[in-house]
Amino acid sequence: SSFKRLLIVSYRLPFSIQQTSEGPSLLQNSGGLVSAVLSMAEQMGQNQGNAAAKIHWIGHGDSALQALGPDALENETFVAHPVYLDEAVNKGFYEGFSNDLIWPLFHYFPSYASFKEHDFDCYQQANTRFLEELTALIEPGDLVWIHDFQLMLLPDLVRQAIPSASIGYFFHIPFPNYEIIKLLPRTWRQALIKGLLGADVVGFHTTDYVQHFLQSVSEVLTLPIIDHRIVLPDRSVVVKDFPISVDFNKFNISGQDTEVFATQQHYKNLLRHNKIIFSVDRLDYTKGITSRLLGYERFLIQNPDWHDEVTFVMTVVPSRDKIGQYQELKREIEETVGRINGLFGTIGWRPIVYSYRSLTFTELMALYTACDIALITPIRDGMNLVCKEFVASRWDHKGVLILSELAGAAQELPDAIIINPTDTQEVADAIKQALVMPLVEQAERLVHMRKHLQNHNVFRWSHDFLSAFNTMISKPTDLE
Ligand code: UDP
Repeated sequence: SSFKRLLIVSYRLPFSIQQTSEGPSLLQNSGGLVSAVLSMAEQMGQNQGNAAAKIHWIGHGDSALQALGPDALENETFVAHPVYLDEAVNKGFYEGFSNDLIWPLFHYFPSYASFKEHDFDCYQQANTRFLEELTALIEPGDLVWIHDFQLMLLPDLVRQAIPSASIGYFFHIPFPNYEIIKLLPRTWRQALIKGLLGADVVGFHTTDYVQHFLQSVSEVLTLPIIDHRIVLPDRSVVVKDFPISVDFNKFNISGQDTEVFATQQHYKNLLRHNKIIFSVDRLDYTKGITSRLLGYERFLIQNPDWHDEVTFVMTVVPSRDKIGQYQELKREIEETVGRINGLFGTIGWRPIVYSYRSLTFTELMALYTACDIALITPIRDGMNLVCKEFVASRWDHKGVLILSELAGAAQELPDAIIINPTDTQEVADAIKQALVMPLVEQAERLVHMRKHLQNHNVFRWSHDFLSAFNTMISKPTDLE
């Protein structure tokens, strides 16, 4: 590829602060996006360790970062460029417009959405602050890759400031149909759609989201769309699906790790070798946690012979729990868990083992590989990586995935037992079906799904995104 440097922009920087004997330093996160970006830089021919070719990452800077000197903001691979926002602006931008409006609305929870002019002002201000950081940094030959719903205005801001820039944008949550977009005040929806069109390539997880976006483009801005290209007077915008994925090999290999195996055996012993149903998600109303509990309850009511033989290990990872809606949800979940355990539990058997905390990577791997069923039931989820991690972890070809049809991942994993999470009976039936599924069938389904994910891993995702720049962007002359 012809790009010189990679400039990533996302709300979160992929670092945390680590206290060492020599003072605080950057600790690089090991999430999927970081792996994808590293492999993309490699593809672009960036020489790791070469100071001139480091990957630049622009993101929101918190107070802990602010305390560090500029030298501490670099490691061998990355240079962090924190954007420091006024606290009140950040609140309106991030907690307000992003998490209290775009998040619920785009996940089809319009009644949870709060429409505040002040929040939109903050959103505009914050996107402009990201632009300032970016313009101070950008050079000819750079590729700018902007991520997610917090920064929908940024692609066009960059385009206005630097018309020749190469800009990619990836949207990590669902893009809803026009009926939902129509709920936004006219000026807001115009600004958001126009904002995204500043990019050369706009990526979504699924073809449905691509169709929804194109529908909004033609409704809101009445622009011609040819194939998967939006035609503007001086250039075109490629809109395409790029389903994000996981580092398949990492999960496959970690599944065979000795420490993971020991932890897994420990859990199985603690649970007296009951069949294990497992779920893990962030605390969020989109994840369908209550529906899942009701499905499990229905299963227990209808299958008394399974009492004492099965344990549902349900982990909820703390998230946004300062917000009223999330506190309310947490209370509802904990009440439901308590009620079900109270109704069916005995001295020797707890039907649900619930915890509200995050897991270490070893614990997560031990649960992925110990469980008999992964029960993944979001009401709406852009992609859902947990189900892909589960499949990638099961090198032993054992275990059953039950997956909601409302997760983006369901498009790619038809070999899961696909359910609708609001259909309590269907969830109960799926649990029963999974518990009695012959090993041969478990293996068949897993082999299909693993083959798909081995090919469509997170490196393929970033590779395809980068390739779209090289093969799909047309010069103005191509458009005539
Ligand atoms: N995960 C985590 N901490 C935990 C358990 C899981 O960070 O204690 C990770 C998990 O491995 C997965 C991610 O959180 O990579 C969840 O991604 P997903 O797309 O399923 O849902 P999201 O939280 O992004 O909506």
